[in-house]
Amino acid sequence: MPAMFFLASIAAASSPKPVFVGGCQADIRALPPADSSLLTVFVFLAVILLVIAVLTRWHRRRVARRNAYLSSPLPARWELILRRRVPLFSRLPEEIRDRLRKNVKRFLAEKEFTACGGLRSVSNAMSVTIAGHACLLLAGRDYHECFPGVASILVYPDAFLGREHTWNLASGTEIVHPAAPLLGEANASGSVVLSWRETLRASVFAGNGHNLVLHEFAHHIRPSGSTLLAEIETGFRRLRSNPSDPVLDSYGAEDKDEFWAVSVEAFFADAPRLREFHPTLYAALADFFFLSPADW
Ligand SMILES: [Zn+2]
Repeated sequence: MPAMFFLASIAAASSPKPVFVGGCQADIRALPPADSSLLTVFVFLAVILLVIAVLTRWHRRRVARRNAYLSSPLPARWELILRRRVPLFSRLPEEIRDRLRKNVKRFLAEKEFTACGGLRSVSNAMSVTIAGHACLLLAGRDYHECFPGVASILVYPDAFLGREHTWNLASGTEIVHPAAPLLGEANASGSVVLSWRETLRASVFAGNGHNLVLHEFAHHIRPSGSTLLAEIETGFRRLRSNPSDPVLDSYGAEDKDEFWAVSVEAFFADAPRLREFHPTLYAALADFFFLSPADW
């Protein structure tokens, strides 16, 4: 093979292959690379906009469905359960009662109920009762959220065994303390544990200052405001030095968190006596909850 022809063959083989478009010969290298990258950006933006549009539409429909659900009347059998099992319900001013109804519906739509400790199931009557008591805490004004820190409610037939876990920092081992019978528990992990028998006591013995559901859900509300915090501080120190208070349960002397929960119980379940014996604490709680149960 002549040297010139051999070199020409190598050059032809290494050059890009021509592409025929509509009878004309074009070269791939002739296509401007900027066009393809612009097209990619355009397609990417279009997909993003489409996803945003679909999500916005889905969110709007969800909000509309939720608003329609919340503004629909409470089922008659739920209303009956609230009247029978939540003693304060019938005494509430109409505006507050209406807000409670809405919150009960939100609560039941958002929270998961689980039967534990041999309880076969959590009936409608049980979940509506629990929701009715818990939502009293939110009845004073329109809140955007309904106990956002609580995802599930575990219901036991009676007292249950709670095990406290702590860590030995020196050895890095977990210590499980002996099981102790409990009637209720509020976990930072997002659950509230309740004894159904104790929950029912608040329905039967209204006005005695005790309400397990109010107590445990109060642990999921953080008190705020300088006046209320000062009242908790003063009241806790007073109860700790003299636990035999005419209204507040001596369990409130355990620590400030328990004093808060016990005060909330008394505020709703023994309001006239709390106002009589602890007027400044009552006033601070009334300001915080936007409610005055002693007037109902
Ligand atoms: Zn407590």
